[in-house]
Amino acid sequence: MTDPAYDYDLFVIGAGSGGVRASRIAAGYGARVAVAEEYRVGGTCVIRGCVPKKLLVYGSHFAEELQDAANYGWTVEKMTFDWPTLRDAVAKDVDRLNAAYTNTLNSNKVEHFLERATITGPNSVKLASGREITAKYILVAVGAWPVMPEIEGVEHCITSNEVFHLESLPRRVVIAGAGYIALEFAGIFNALGSHVTVVNRSETILRGYDAALRDRLLQITMARGIEYKFNCGFERVEKQEDGSLLVFMKGQPDPLHADAVLVATGRRPKTDGLGLENAGIALGAHGEIVVDEGAQTSCPSIFAVGDVTNRVQLTPIAIREGHAFADRVFGGKDTRVSYDCIPSAVFSQPPLASVGLNEAQAREKLGSNVKIFTSDFRPMKNIFGHRPERGLYKLVVDAQTDKVLGVHLIGPDAPEVLQAAAIAVKAGLTKADFDATVALHPSMAEELVLMR
Ligand SMILES: Cc1cc2nc3c(=O)[nH]c(=O)nc-3n(C[C@H](O)[C@H](O)[C@H](O)COP(=O)(O)OP(=O)(O)OC[C@H]3O[C@@H](n4cnc5c(N)ncnc54)[C@H](O)[C@@H]3O)c2cc1C
Repeated sequence: MTDPAYDYDLFVIGAGSGGVRASRIAAGYGARVAVAEEYRVGGTCVIRGCVPKKLLVYGSHFAEELQDAANYGWTVEKMTFDWPTLRDAVAKDVDRLNAAYTNTLNSNKVEHFLERATITGPNSVKLASGREITAKYILVAVGAWPVMPEIEGVEHCITSNEVFHLESLPRRVVIAGAGYIALEFAGIFNALGSHVTVVNRSETILRGYDAALRDRLLQITMARGIEYKFNCGFERVEKQEDGSLLVFMKGQPDPLHADAVLVATGRRPKTDGLGLENAGIALGAHGEIVVDEGAQTSCPSIFAVGDVTNRVQLTPIAIREGHAFADRVFGGKDTRVSYDCIPSAVFSQPPLASVGLNEAQAREKLGSNVKIFTSDFRPMKNIFGHRPERGLYKLVVDAQTDKVLGVHLIGPDAPEVLQAAAIAVKAGLTKADFDATVALHPSMAEELVLMR
């Protein structure tokens, strides 16, 4: 397989979720592989995404557990929270994972260059240090990057890249956007005691999720003290002498006072300055690399996987795409990625999770041939903790075939429950199959098989 005409069989740009998986699998098939990484091996998920975010969610969740602890007989005296302790512990875990991912590359004999790479031709890349490298195949796995608004004072705002490194816990946080990243950080800061205001240009939060779940989340988070300003956009951000910020919004007379302003209004494929034009690689309307079903770009020797293709911006998808690419190009296997029934979650507080068609999508597809089953319940844990919040579980069913088309959950541990339910939806099980399954009692998950 090895072609001596090139320095490597595969050169991967970006050592994130997709790039590391593709490198490791390709090397396992005997390919000579190198990868370039401009920041830290592990990529967004490990270094400044899913993992550190989830650890902050865990850290902030103690607030709720401690509040509810009294009825369970616990007296917690002098409850205090220290942001630098949590921040530094999370950073330490990120270091551990960064080392583990680097070890994975080393143990699979994947050479890595800790510098930026750009494409200079169909089979060549240039490293920031000036070195030119040739490869039979190039895989672009550079991920995405936060989109910033073009407003005065934007340099005073932070993104999810910086939020993990804040010097102190902001007393007042303004968050732009109402997607999953915005609402996850809204939940974290709210639980840690900051005053949170979410500013969104429309009235819709979490586009794509079932409306009933979105409403429930809005209702609960408002009751928990998160403020929402809908149909609002930032005009400018001003820094005050004391370091605090004023956020001026279009059409609003009074600015918001903040100690941190987090912009979470979306992530764009990181294709700028990558030299894609040197290989004639076609881009889509949002700067994404256009690929076919086999991850091949318009240049036959160059492939792309993960967020840079802007299909589904999730870690497990980038990993599967990287794996399938390596299987096909180096392993002679026809591995394909299925984009059907991808489960996803929002680690808001409470969290929500979803798989398959939501009610609106099912009705659009099947008209009146849709049956909806819901369970609107107050989890035992919430009742005992004197917490009024209710969970909501929803099944979307094809009335003709009885197939469960979607499962949508909001409530404690919803993502943990959903992963198992996603297997049933992916397998095409029916509502009758759900009904035939004996409840696991007492659990919240049992609601899934008790809806009639
Ligand atoms: C705050 C946050 C929370 C998230 N939470 C979740 C979650 O809970 N669940 C989930 O599934 N997904 C989550 N995601 C999304 C997930 O992180 C991405 O979908 C995933 O990391 C995409 O993998 P990738 O391989 O495409 O790119 P990345 O993991 O982003 O890797 C790309 C790598 O390429 C490097 N790079 C870029 N340009 C160059 C260059 N020219 N030369 C060399 N290196 C370069 C980058 O530094 C980066 O390390 C989250 C993202 C964010 C930002």
